[in-house]
Amino acid sequence: MERENKIVLPGDFLGTSEEYILGNGVYDKEGNLYASHIGDVSISDKRVISVVPKVETPPVIRDGDVVIGQVVDLKDTVAIVSIACVKGKENRAIAAASQGIIHISSVRNGYVKDLRQEFGFFDIVKAKVIDAKALKLSTEGKDLGVVNAICVKCKGSLKRKGDTLSCDRCERTETRNLSEDYGESVM
Ligand code: ZN
Repeated sequence: MERENKIVLPGDFLGTSEEYILGNGVYDKEGNLYASHIGDVSISDKRVISVVPKVETPPVIRDGDVVIGQVVDLKDTVAIVSIACVKGKENRAIAAASQGIIHISSVRNGYVKDLRQEFGFFDIVKAKVIDAKALKLSTEGKDLGVVNAICVKCKGSLKRKGDTLSCDRCERTETRNLSEDYGESVM
C-alpha cells in the first residue's frame, strides 16, 4: 500500500472517480473525490483511495516512553499493567489490549523480596518502557512507581505518610513502590 506523506483536510480534492475507487474517509461528488476527514492519503494497489485518520491512530509505544497504567494482576514475579496512555500523548487512546509487564527485577534499583509489598491491585503506576516489543516496563527511578492507590481492605484512598501509605478511613498502613509524584495529578 502506498502512503503519501500528505495530510489532507476535509473537503480537499483527491482525484476523480475515473482514477480511483472510493475508500474510507473519501466521498464522491459528481465524479470528484474529496477527503471527509483529516488524515493521510493512502492508495492501494487496486487504486482504492482512502484517508487514514491521523488523530485517532493509537500512539506507537516506544522504548523510553513513560506510560501510565493500572495494575490488573499480580503474580509472584510480575505485575501486569493495563496501559492507559503514553506521557505526552494523553489525548490519544492506547489499543485496548496493551498490557505491560513489570518484572520483579525491574521494580526498583535493588533487591525486591515480595512484589506485593511494591504494588497492589488497581494501583495507578507510572513506568518507563524498557522493551517496547514485549511491553516490558520498569519503575526504577524517583518519579516512577505508584502514583495512586486504594486501600485493599476498605477501598478508601491512601494518603502518603513518609515512605508508607495510610488509609483515610480504616487507618490501615500499606507499603508501595512510590513515585515521588504520588497523589499528584499525573495527566
Ligand atoms: Zn482502609
